[in-house]
Amino acid sequence: MSRWPGGSQSGLREANTAKIVDAVKRFGGLTQVELAEATRLSTATVSAIVKELSQTGLVETHPTSRSGRRAQLVTIARRAGLVAAVQIGSRSMRVRLSDVGQDVLADRSMPLPADHAEDTVLDRITLLLIDMLTMIAADAEDLVGVCIAVPAPIDPESGLIAYRGVMRRWEDQPVAEVVQQRLGCPVLVEKDANLAALAEATLGTARDVEDSLFVHASYTTSAGIVLGSRLYRGGSGTAGEIGHVQVDPSGSICTCGQRGCLETLVGAEAITAPLRATYGQVTFRDVIAQAASGDPGCARVIADAATLLGRVVAGVCQSVAPEVITVGGELVDAGPIFLLPFASAVREHAPQSRAARRDPVPTSFGKDAVLVGATIHILQATDPSQLLEDRT
Ligand SMILES: [Zn+2]
Repeated sequence: MSRWPGGSQSGLREANTAKIVDAVKRFGGLTQVELAEATRLSTATVSAIVKELSQTGLVETHPTSRSGRRAQLVTIARRAGLVAAVQIGSRSMRVRLSDVGQDVLADRSMPLPADHAEDTVLDRITLLLIDMLTMIAADAEDLVGVCIAVPAPIDPESGLIAYRGVMRRWEDQPVAEVVQQRLGCPVLVEKDANLAALAEATLGTARDVEDSLFVHASYTTSAGIVLGSRLYRGGSGTAGEIGHVQVDPSGSICTCGQRGCLETLVGAEAITAPLRATYGQVTFRDVIAQAASGDPGCARVIADAATLLGRVVAGVCQSVAPEVITVGGELVDAGPIFLLPFASAVREHAPQSRAARRDPVPTSFGKDAVLVGATIHILQATDPSQLLEDRT
């Protein structure tokens, strides 16, 4: 090691302790040998610090036979705190409660009306969360933090939705502040695609590369960009907003106020509208399920959307050159009907892209990608020394 933070023995010890706590939080649980590899510290240093952390109650060790050898698995102690991940979608919301070792303790969903309003949804989140905490004999004081995922970009300065029109009834309140006041713990609000991108880059398919892209193909269309192993939001927080790239200058008006955005051609309304004349009142999920089971009309609509989305994603590949593309959201449930034309369009329009040559892959976390990312986001934002202080 070339530099010793703090320049003193105790400063070094603190820095090494933080490294070990960070690594355990990042991976959920590691053996001491794995911890030494992850932190580049000696096994003797790791062993001494783990012993000290066990005595303070921050970490626990459990016998494991990972990789066929008996060892001690180091995890953050369950009682060190709880993390709530909340995903707000266009038609539903989901709340997941985990401990700081990322073990899921409770997971509940609730439908939401179309065009829901911020105040009523935040009431429901608070009530549901308190109910879930009660079920596991905990309360709001046990929360290390809450991360709320929304289907819209957030302006980092104001904390408000960065695009007017895309979540009309959520625009005037800083969501993080409101929930923070109610629960009394740190609250982060982040675009859903960014969190899924973080999940892939930390624990998923993109964990071994520095630059990756997550495409969220759901009721709305968006992407999360990770550059140099960090989430890239851009100054306005709107990086990755591929749903609002214009693809048809004479197209219909988008929720954002522009004409012919990608989302007006591949979002839920664009997928269902052309089928209504022959299929009646079909839902977005109906179309995806019928496409997956071979219905030619539904498959056509999905494949056309996949091709258009692939072209726009190819443009992102040309400009930021990710090494891996992962895809999540309801459209992925259509399977090869969606994935093949999507991959083919990315390859055709970004032939030099390494990510396109590897082919986009469905998210490693299925329907949990955003919640996994929300949990990681809170844990990465929490100062490990704060956790230590909380225990003493
Ligand atoms: Zn738009």
